[in-house]
Amino acid sequence: MSDILSKNTVLKALLDQHLDDLATREGLEKKVILEGIAKGTMVLLGNPAHKKVRPILVGQPSAIKVNANIGTSPLCSNDDMEIEKLHVAEAAGADTVMDLSIAGNLDAIRTRMLESTYLPLGTVPLYSVGQQLLDNEREVSSMDPEELFAEIEKQAEQGVDFMTLHCGISYRGARMGAEKDRVLGIVSRGGSMLARWMLENKKENPLLEQFDRLLDISLRHNITLSLGDALRPGAGCDAGDTAQFEEVLNLGVLQKIALERGVQCMIEGPGHVPMHKVRTQIEAIKTLTHGAPLYVLGPLVVDATPGYDHISGAIGGAIGVTAGVDFLCYLTPAEHLTLPDKDDVKAGVMASRIAAHAGEVALGTPRAIAREEAMNRARRDLDWEGMKAQAIDPEMVTKRRGVHKDEKVCAMCGKFCAVKMVQDAKII
Ligand code: SF4
Repeated sequence: MSDILSKNTVLKALLDQHLDDLATREGLEKKVILEGIAKGTMVLLGNPAHKKVRPILVGQPSAIKVNANIGTSPLCSNDDMEIEKLHVAEAAGADTVMDLSIAGNLDAIRTRMLESTYLPLGTVPLYSVGQQLLDNEREVSSMDPEELFAEIEKQAEQGVDFMTLHCGISYRGARMGAEKDRVLGIVSRGGSMLARWMLENKKENPLLEQFDRLLDISLRHNITLSLGDALRPGAGCDAGDTAQFEEVLNLGVLQKIALERGVQCMIEGPGHVPMHKVRTQIEAIKTLTHGAPLYVLGPLVVDATPGYDHISGAIGGAIGVTAGVDFLCYLTPAEHLTLPDKDDVKAGVMASRIAAHAGEVALGTPRAIAREEAMNRARRDLDWEGMKAQAIDPEMVTKRRGVHKDEKVCAMCGKFCAVKMVQDAKII
């Protein structure tokens, strides 16, 4: 038995139950999955307390996964709407959701989401602690680390499957991130709270200092730690600076400690990175974190795209996948502007799924290549049902074919259809 499975009995029980199904779903040999988990290059998301969960693998060569962020904000808080967005994300093909709620009854929203979905659910426990502080008009610096650990434990018991925890930002890193030569400082919500706590108390990050305690909680519930990137660049011009990589180095050290204890880890990545720097950034992070699954937000390759950041992020995501990214967190057209609505959620999931597919095609992944070849044949044959079957968004094919759905050709060219023109040629 591999080391990690002898130490993490909850993970072992989960694998015993789901390994056959995972191997079928992923088209991978069981041996490949077990080796990936043992090396820490693959993780199995699933907390048994999340009763409906269908565990999933994250980490190449398993399929690239896509996460959709949902959740309330102080300016826009409607629990029913968030549940509707959850179901839109499921229907659009998201592999996980993260509840990033920061307004309303967070326990009620979270437990309702856990009861409503089979997708692994992620959270940022620091948000709940922050909400309690701000609602009680307390300064962030007054947070007692005990409050944070109690929140993590509670969410683990509720069934949260993976948690973003900013364990890698050190006191030194917080100072670097806050320095004026960084154009956009710290853009991570949880990271900025922890940085402020450290800078005002002149103390080290409690999640870093008491990392062992976090591992104890994680082991009891098979919580996968998503080691947060508090110092990710929030502007293309900050990409690759010392602050960013001070944190990445810490994340690599923590990932190794966690794996030795039997705890699964993912690494969170950038952020805002110009296109010509994406590959070197991803390869450097993967190397420094020992090939652990890399979970990126974008990366956005340009910043002048409000309203279209899902496209900017999908470009970076596709390149990132070819360089080793395993898990794409979606961006929506609402990014940097407002809370996403249901249409934004669907557009965001689709953009990330296109990025994942484009990356897999470039990597030569058999299932992605097979899908492309089937689509190409369907196009050649003007087989609209075949095209719909291979489409990332079959609903869109039906919708856009609309009134011309009974025509052999489409309304783009009509009787000038180039495909039909050559097919019907009487070649002598
Ligand atoms: S009508 Fe034009 S766009 Fe449509 S299938 Fe034929 S060639 Fe392609």
